[in-house]
Amino acid sequence: MEAPSQVSVQTKRGIQKQEDNATAYMDFMKSHCCYDAIPTSCKLVVFDTKLQVQKAFFALVANSLRAAPLWDSKLKRFVGMLTITDFINIIHCYYKSPLVQMYELENHKIETWRDVYLKCSCPFLISISPDASLFDAIYSLLKHKIHRLPVIEPKSGNVLHILTHKRILKFLHIFLCCQGEKVPKPAFIHRQIQEMGIGTFRNIAAVQQTATLYDALSIFVDRRVSALPVVDEKGKVVALYSRFDVINLAAQKTYNNLDVTMLEALDRRRCFMEGVIKCYPDETLETIIDRIVTAEVHRLVLVDRADMLRGIISLSDLLQAMVLTPAGIEALLS
Ligand code: ADP
Ligand code: ADP
Ligand code: AMP
Repeated sequence: MEAPSQVSVQTKRGIQKQEDNATAYMDFMKSHCCYDAIPTSCKLVVFDTKLQVQKAFFALVANSLRAAPLWDSKLKRFVGMLTITDFINIIHCYYKSPLVQMYELENHKIETWRDVYLKCSCPFLISISPDASLFDAIYSLLKHKIHRLPVIEPKSGNVLHILTHKRILKFLHIFLCCQGEKVPKPAFIHRQIQEMGIGTFRNIAAVQQTATLYDALSIFVDRRVSALPVVDEKGKVVALYSRFDVINLAAQKTYNNLDVTMLEALDRRRCFMEGVIKCYPDETLETIIDRIVTAEVHRLVLVDRADMLRGIISLSDLLQAMVLTPAGIEALLS
C-alpha cells in the first residue's frame, strides 16, 4: 500500500501548510517491486563452480559483464556471485612479481578459490524475489555491502536480472522525468550536500599517481572501497580508478605485471571515462542526483574549487539518504 507522501497541516489561522514530502522517494521504492525495475531484455551469464577462474573472468570480459551468479552442480543451487572484487582478491593474493607466472589463476577452479576465500566472506547467495519491493532491494544491497543483487523467481529458481544501485536510481529518475507529478519532490533535494552531510568526508582511501597498481589493489582489498581517487603529490585529484577498471587487466592479459605505476595503469585502460566526474560541497542534492545518473557512474568525487580531495558521494550514500533515512533506518554504511 502506498503511504501518503504529502501531509497537509491545519494551522490556528486555518492556513494549509504543506510538509516537505520527505518520504516521497521511500514511498516510491516501497510501492514498486524489483520486477518493475528489470529491463525488458538483458544478458546474463551463469558460471558452474567447476569452471577455471581465469576462464570465468575472460568470459565476463567477452560478454561485457561485471558479475555472474555461481551454480553448484552437486548441490543443484546457486551458491554465490563472481564479481570484479573476486578477480582483484585473486590476483592480489597470488601476485609475486612480473617474472613469476600466477599459476593459481590459471589452474584454480572457482570452487577451489572459494574454499580459500570464503573463510572471510559471504558463503551463500544473497538474492531477492521479483515481487519484493525496491525498498527491500536497497536495504539488502546496503546491509550486506554488496553491489550485485540477483532477482530470482522463487518457483522456477531462474535468475531474471542482477539489480544494482545504478539500475534502481535510474529507474526512479526515468519515472520522475515521465511522471513527475506523481512523485512530489522532497524539499531536502534543494539543500546543499555539505549541509546534509551525505557521503564520506574523512579517511578517504586514495592512491598517489606514482604508486604502483599493486598498491592500489592492496587498498581495494584492505579498505573494501569501490573506487580510488588518484591524486598528485599536492592532494589534487587527477583521475579515478574504480574496481571496474581492474577488469582491463583480464581483457589485456596484463595482470602478470602489477608493478606499473598508476599513471601507466590509467593510460592502459581501454574502456574508461574521460576526466573525473566531480561535485562541490555547495551543490544541491538535486544537482548531484542529475549528474550521477546522467554520467552513469557509481560515485562522484567531492572536491573544493582547487580540486583538492574532500570526499566521496556514492550511490550507496544517496540511496541511504533518499530512501532508508526517511524510513528511520540510519547509517547502514558505517
Ligand atoms: P563488485 O566487485 O562488482 O563491486 P561486490 O562489491 O558486490 O561487487 O562484491 C563484493 C564481494 O561480495 C565479492 O566477493 C562478491 O563475490 C560478493 N557478492 C556480491 N554480490 C553477492 C551476492 N548477491 N551474494 C553473495 N555474495 C555476493
Ligand atoms: P560499476 O558500473 O561497476 O559500478 P563504476 O561506476 O565504478 O562501475 O565505473 C565504471 C567506469 O566509470 C570506470 O571506468 C570508472 O573509472 C569510471 N568512473 C566511475 N566513477 C567515476 C568518476 N566519478 N569520475 C570518472 N570516472 C568514473
Ligand atoms: P560504495 O561501495 O561506493 O557503494 O560505497 C560504500 C560506502 O563507502 C559509502 O559510504 C561511500 O561514501 C564510501 N566510500 C566509497 N569509496 C570510498 C573511498 N575511496 N574512501 C572512503 N570511503 C569510500
